[in-house]
Parts: sequence; C-alpha cells; structure tokens
Amino acid sequence: MFIQVAVPVPALNLLTYRVPDGMTAPTVGARVVVPLGSRIVTGVVVDAALPLDDELGDVNIKPIRELLDAGAFIPPDVIDLALWTATYYAAGSGETITAVLPPKARGGRADAHKTIRIAAITAAGLDELQEARTHREAGLSWPGPGRRELTPKQYEALDILAGTPSGIPTPQLAVRGIAADAVSRLARHGLVSLRQVRVDRDPFHLASISSPPVDADRRLTPEQMAAVGRLTALAQTDSFHVALLHGVTGSGKTEIYLRLSAAVRAAGRGVLMLVPEIGLTPAMASLFRQAFGDRVAIQHSGLSDGERHDQWQRIRRGDIDVVVGTRSAVFAPLDRVGLIVVDEEHDGSYKQEENPRYNGRDVAIVRGQRAKALVVLGSATPSMESYYNATSGRYERVVLERRVLDRALAAVTIVDMREEYAATGPDAILSRALRDAIAARLDRKEQSLVLLNRRGFATAVFCRQCAGTLDCPNCSVSLVIHGEGGARRARCHYCDYSTRVPSACPLCAGPYLEQAGFGTERVEAEIKRLCGPARVARLDRDAVRRRGALASLLSRFRDGEIDVLVGTQMIAKGHDFPRVTLVGVVSADVGLGMADFRASERTFQLLTQVAGRAGRGEQPGEAIIQTLYPDHYSIQLACRQDYPAFYARELQFRGAMRYPPLVSIINTIVRSRTFTGAMDDAADIVQRLREADGDRGEFRVLGPAPAPLAKLRGEYRAQLLIKSSNRKRMREALVSVIADRPHLARRTTIDVDPLSVL
Ligand code: ADP
Ligand code: ZN
Repeated sequence: MFIQVAVPVPALNLLTYRVPDGMTAPTVGARVVVPLGSRIVTGVVVDAALPLDDELGDVNIKPIRELLDAGAFIPPDVIDLALWTATYYAAGSGETITAVLPPKARGGRADAHKTIRIAAITAAGLDELQEARTHREAGLSWPGPGRRELTPKQYEALDILAGTPSGIPTPQLAVRGIAADAVSRLARHGLVSLRQVRVDRDPFHLASISSPPVDADRRLTPEQMAAVGRLTALAQTDSFHVALLHGVTGSGKTEIYLRLSAAVRAAGRGVLMLVPEIGLTPAMASLFRQAFGDRVAIQHSGLSDGERHDQWQRIRRGDIDVVVGTRSAVFAPLDRVGLIVVDEEHDGSYKQEENPRYNGRDVAIVRGQRAKALVVLGSATPSMESYYNATSGRYERVVLERRVLDRALAAVTIVDMREEYAATGPDAILSRALRDAIAARLDRKEQSLVLLNRRGFATAVFCRQCAGTLDCPNCSVSLVIHGEGGARRARCHYCDYSTRVPSACPLCAGPYLEQAGFGTERVEAEIKRLCGPARVARLDRDAVRRRGALASLLSRFRDGEIDVLVGTQMIAKGHDFPRVTLVGVVSADVGLGMADFRASERTFQLLTQVAGRAGRGEQPGEAIIQTLYPDHYSIQLACRQDYPAFYARELQFRGAMRYPPLVSIINTIVRSRTFTGAMDDAADIVQRLREADGDRGEFRVLGPAPAPLAKLRGEYRAQLLIKSSNRKRMREALVSVIADRPHLARRTTIDVDPLSVL
C-alpha cells in the first residue's frame, strides 16, 4: 500500500511512500517518519491507502520508517484546508502542512509535553515519621538499632510532605532545600511515591497584564443590539455566511464578538477569534477568558514553543470552545467551528510574507464555507476587497455608525508642513500646534499617542561633498541610523546588516557626512527635549524585541505610567486606551511615496485608525496630522473619517489601473545572483505565459522589470505582474510554466493576491 506524505521542505509537493508489511495503515492526518534523500524527516499523511500499482512496482518507493500517531494528529478538515491553501497560493503542500503543525510536532517524535514529578508521602512514610517523632518525644535516640538510616534532611522532607498529602512538585521541594536525589532515595525506601504529571504551560499570565475589567451587565447600544441580533440569526442558520461588520472606531465591536460567541457556544459550536497582532491577543484573550473561563486557548507566534504546543493539544483534545489567535490560528484543530471572527480584517498582518503566502482572512472564509459557519469580518476601515464584496451582495453588511455612549469621533486638524517649514525653518519635526497640544495634555494629566511609521533615528546618511549615500551592501536601500552618540549604528531594515557609522565618506573620504530624515527614535528624543518632565516611551519593533516587552509597555501605558507613547503603526491598531485624548501624526506621507497600488488605501486606514485611538474615554479626543500633501484624498477623507467617499474614489483608481478588487493579480519575483540573470529568467517566464494564454487573452502580463526593491540580501530581483479576472487560469498557467523549469522554482517567489508589489 502507498500513502501520500507532505514533508516540511520548501517547494516540495506530496511524496509517495510505501507502508511496510506488518505496519498498521496510517490514517490521514497521522505523522510519519520518512527518509528523504539522506535525511530523515517527519511528515504528515494527507492521502492514505492508495491502491498498489503493479505497473509502477514498488522497488523505488521507499518505506515509511515509523508511524507516530495511531489516529489523525491533524484533523482531516484542517488537512483539507491546508491543501486548499497550498493550491490557491501556489505553495508546496509540505511547507503549508508545516505551517499548520504546532512548533514542537515538526521535529522527531514529539508529544513533548512538559512534565513534572510530584512527590507524596506514603502510608509507610507516615508511619516512619510517626515513629521518629514518638522516639524523639520519649527522649530516645533515633534511629534505633536495626532501623534504616535516614538523614535529618530526609526526615525534614517527610515532615514537609506530611503537610501536603496530595503531594508537592519536586522543583518546589528543591526550592525548600530538598534535593531531587534525597527524594529519590525516600522513594526507593517506599516512604514517598513519585508520579509524573503533564502540565499545560498556560500563557494567560500574559493576558492578566493588560486586561481591562469587564462590565458583565453593560447595556448594549441600540446599534450593537441590532448587530448582535442580525449576526446571531445568521449564525443560527447553520449555513455559510460572511458578514462585514463595518463599525467606526470605538463603536464597541468587541462587545458584539463576545455576545455572538456566547450564542454560538451555547449552540454547541466552536469559535475562532482572529486578531492581527500579537500585541492585541492578550487583551482580547483575557476578555474572552473572563467570559468563558478556561475553555479559551490562545495561539500565536509570540508564545514559547512549549506554551503553543500545549495550547494546541488542549484544542485538539476538545477541551476548548474558543481560540483567540493571530493568522495561523485559522488552522487551529478546533472541532465544530460555528463562528470565525476576523477582527481588523483589513490589516496587513493577516498576510504571511513568506511561503505559504496566505491571507488568514481569506483562508478563514474558506474554512467557514466548509464548516457551514458564520464568518464575521470586523473593521472601521474595511479592505477594498471586503467592501466590494459587501456592496455586490456577496457579504452581508452590518453597520455601526456611532461610537458607544454617543462619544464623538476625534476632531482632526491638518497641519501643512510646508507652511510650518516656511515659518520655523526646515528642521521642524513637531509643528507648533502639535507641541502645544502635547503640553496641554501634560498639564491636564491626559495621555498622547504620537505616530511616525518609520523606525530609527535618521533614515539616511549622505555626503555633502560627493552626494554619496550610505547604502546596504546586500540590498538596494540606504542604511538607517539607530541610536545617538557613541551608540550609533547604521542598519539595514531588510537584511539586518549593521555597521559603525563612518566619520568620513566611504566614497570620497570627505569629512562632511550628514544625517537626513528622521524616525521614531528621533521623535522620542525630540519630545523628551521639548516637553521636559514628560514620561515618554517608544513602541516599535526595535523597542519590543525582548519577549514580554510589548505586553509590559502596553500595560504601563494603560496604567498611566507613560504620558506620551511614540510609535509606528503598532500603536494605531485596535488598542483601547481611555485616557488618550490626543493623537499626533508626525508625517502622514510616509506610505504615500511608495510605488504600490495600495499606498492610498494604507494611508487612509492608518490615519483613520490612529485618529480612532483618541477620545475613547469620557474626554473628547483630538488628532493632529502633519503632512506635505494636505490635499491628497486619502488624507482629506481620513480627516473627515468618510469611508464611503474614500472607497468610491479609490475604486475609480483601481478600475482605471486594473488593480484589485476589480481584477486579480499575481506578483512574481525571480531572484538571481546577477541582474541580467534575473531579468532573462523573468523574460522567459513572461514569454511562456503569453504563449500559454494564446489568443484567449485571459490575462495580461506586465514585465519583466527590475523589482522596486531591485536587490535584496545579495540577490537581484526581477518582477512580473499578471492580471486577470480569472485567477485560477492565470495561477495554473504560471504554476505549469514554472514546473517546466525546475531550476527556476527555487528562485521564484509567487505571491497570489499580494498586499504589496514592492
Ligand atoms: P471598537 O473595536 O469598535 O473600536 P471597542 O470594542 O474597543 O471598539 O469598544 C470601545 C470602548 O467602548 C471599550 O472601552 C468598550 O469597553 C466600551 N463599550 C463597548 N460597548 C459598550 C456599551 N454598550 N456601553 C458602554 N461602553 C461600551
Ligand atoms: Zn540589506
């Protein structure tokens, strides 16, 4: 008998293995250990019991080495979902299955739970202790002749254990000075019993840090009530629906997710709650934990492998009704899924930027369809795709137009930085308006958020003499300066190359190097300089590299220990900080300069979302947006928080330029050690694609062209873009062209429904 196995190796498709005589036939979803070339790897069975083909003979087909699971380790519906994902995103089945496995299951045999030993005193132990006490009280020496020899330490151990008859974990005994071998010796005498127990590493200690208290019998607003009613009715049909929950920032969408989840759970079905960022998981998870107790699990990559593995096992065992997690949680082994919520569905973090390049939101929709579940996409700024589907009637639309308790949306002011430069000089980072506004918040003991979507201190270094710049040797980008004074380093944000900042120009040796541009570190320094006693902190990827740093920063801000929080888009998302009354955007233009068809959409979303962080408590909020393009429609309409007008305007642009959601696109990047190599190979693919399309004219191929990021990590990159309203045909054509050129497969990146074409 043959089976098909997905092995965790990039770009490999399913492999066939033989089940050796005498081995039980593996079921779909079971893990098997198989030889692969000179290696031994763990794979997952995706198709079992293929009939033996005599023609083929089985001489060349290698046997499985070992079967790790008696039943399915991954549920068959999740296997199917993974295979769909692999096909749709033109990824290897193996690497897709890997993405579905919890981290520890990828290596060899690993139901590697954390176990600990619990020591408990036995009846014999109690007797021994009793006798020793009696002797001591009678003034007799102990041990008496003929007794077994126990050390004072061992008696002390018995004494401690007698106090807790149910047993004490050995690490805890160690803390109290009782070493493991003392315990083992007592066990050999039969005075102590030892048992191994499995412990689930529970990541909810993180959740408790940033959890706002829940008000259980809070009255819903009429809009919330209507939304819960409508969505619950959809969930109760037990058939597939997608609903776009379009609610302005602060309209109370979370409360709707909670009520809806309660209804779905009461009907005996499971809930998948997806959030875009690791940073948002603890707050959301803790709300769900308060509502549903310990039948809630979390799944995201910020957990340790052990925690993640244990949570995964709990879901798999059926101990869980609600899973809260980031994109990969869409593959959680949850049974009877009745509801999938994708919160902040527009968010770019749902897209995985490595193989398989899936969008968690779109996989969620497919999972919902297969499970006959309701999928709720929540956002204040829906993606163009989702809103398009809602207007065309494919999705239900549920709207929340008002904030809870009739709180006003933040009043937004635009500061034209050209005027500011004219008035105060070209070096201004904070306008006078923003500086004054921050100072006013400090006086009133309110909090401010300041956004700049660019990390580092300075974003470029250039030479005044030869105009040379300090570039990354591996990538076609300039290096970014981090830190000040002696701690200064120049770093590449793409490949992590890092170097000392030279004092003279590497090209002309001129001593006139200057820093230009600024990032979050500089803004942080500037606010500290200008706003004296303010407690300023920074939240960006550099600031939260250490595990736990993000959660602690967020909880310090929530507890009022920070007055001004400066950060990248990480501060714009989903957070609910009631004491924030001011949001400043240092430069709204960061994303607009990008040669990307989503530049305007992203800018609109970011500005609307960050403005939505202000005024969520009792005090009204204000947002100040600094820009060089005050008339740009995405900035104008974000100020008015007018989503429909933005959508209409942007749809025109997408239609004229033939971009999603009006057509589908596949971005393809060919990498090579030389520029011409990359361009030639890309040209070859373009040529073959055109031939494959022939006279049908079903797709358009643009390129080859140097990719906007023409060199990355030492490789040159050529790009081709395929557009079509028939996504399946264009994908199949591309996959078959690449399949004909195996040497190209490893150097080609295929991105179906790309978020960015850089
Ligand atoms: P959104 O996700 O729509 O931006 P949230 O769900 O974060 O909004 O809710 C915004 C704030 O309003 C939160 O502090 C939440 O606890 C509070 N809230 C939600 N619903 C109500 C309600 N019915 N009455 C009072 N406060 C509410
Ligand atoms: Zn680099």
